Amino acid sequence: MNDAAEMAAEAAPIGHGKLQWRILIGFVLGTIAGLAAYSLAPGAAWIETLVTYVTGPIGQIFLRLLFMLVIPLLFSALVVGIAEMGEVRELRNVGLRTLVYTVIVSGIAVAISITAVNVLRPGDGVDPVAARELLAQGGEGAAGIVEASSKSEAGIGQLIAIVPNNVIAAMSNNDILAVMFFALFFGIGLLLVQTPRTETLKDAIEGVFEVAMRLIGMVIQLAPIAIFCFMFNLSAQFGWDLLVKLSAFVGVVLLALAIQMFGVFPLLLKLLANKNPVAFFRETREASVMAFSTASSNATLPTALRVADEQLKLPGKIARFVLTIGATANQNGTAMFEGVTVLFLAQFFGVDLTIADQAFVMLICILAGIGTAGVPGGSLPVIALILAGVGVPPEGIGLILGVDRFLDMCRTTLNVIGDLVCAQVISALSSKDPVIVIEGT
Ligand code: ASP
Repeated sequence: MNDAAEMAAEAAPIGHGKLQWRILIGFVLGTIAGLAAYSLAPGAAWIETLVTYVTGPIGQIFLRLLFMLVIPLLFSALVVGIAEMGEVRELRNVGLRTLVYTVIVSGIAVAISITAVNVLRPGDGVDPVAARELLAQGGEGAAGIVEASSKSEAGIGQLIAIVPNNVIAAMSNNDILAVMFFALFFGIGLLLVQTPRTETLKDAIEGVFEVAMRLIGMVIQLAPIAIFCFMFNLSAQFGWDLLVKLSAFVGVVLLALAIQMFGVFPLLLKLLANKNPVAFFRETREASVMAFSTASSNATLPTALRVADEQLKLPGKIARFVLTIGATANQNGTAMFEGVTVLFLAQFFGVDLTIADQAFVMLICILAGIGTAGVPGGSLPVIALILAGVGVPPEGIGLILGVDRFLDMCRTTLNVIGDLVCAQVISALSSKDPVIVIEGT
């Protein structure tokens, strides 16, 4: 297992085991309490007081704790990810192909999910008055976070702003793309200068990653209470509409994942690796089952490696390289889920996202595939940050958390199978490389 995967696996898993049940209970109880308030005492003053002074602030504190940790987490995960990619020097061509493949296939994945959510519009049709009210509250709560975000730039300015002129300012503005750019650049620098001191620095950054993961694991322990509050606030204002919209959201996520899994992957296998997709899915069954049940790409890595070796019979070196990197960097399912979720919540809260905004979301989702840890619920902090970045109330994440575990199992399966497809394709494309032929297995 590579360093980042090992570290993430060791750090407290997010939303594991019993916690998942407590989150579900919080979700159900909060929804029932909110619906009761909506039906029995619509618009009552005491509900507003409760939301303003109790359930609202609790939700806000939970979100702020998550936000607090996102920058150190993203920065350290990206730097370590890039530094690792360059470590296997003799596999430089394989590394380059993997990078190009990852960016293109993640781009296709995100484009599919964004198209699906735009065509089917699962979040449309919510009571506009209630949505605006919530938007205003959320806006206040998230003011510090949203303030001076990259939204203030438009068009070409938005593109230029990806390169920060002051990285500290970018961090303090939560300018996620600019911070990611700096982290990638820093990771490359760390690759180029290999001295004892930079080794120490790399170790220290890995340490930051471990600490951030552990702290996020602790914050997530508060999720059941926070989810109760989120769901109470939302369902007290939106009533039954909320549940209908939520089912539509789950449907769209599953549809988008299925298109990638059963449409795009078979095409890639057939065209680029000349591999029969049916045989491929049969041979990778064990990895699918493992990914589905653990909801963690990192935990599935040993199984994926074995499947690549024993079933797909791929060259060991390439499989090890592609799969270990892929477990943290090539996450198609995660990128798709993040795209659908952000746009769904924007529709839900009536936030109009321009083409430029959507392009921004797409780019972040592709990059976030690299920066999201392969553990259960790894995408949640990233989604919270993207939401704030495009002006959608981050509270909306409460809606998603209730159904997250099931969707996490599905998207993780896509993540892992996507890595195996990548390994199969890169092996086929690299079969003529002399180094692979000689030292391949
Ligand atoms: N659970 C996912 C994985 O391990 C990450 C996520 O999307 O939350 O691949």
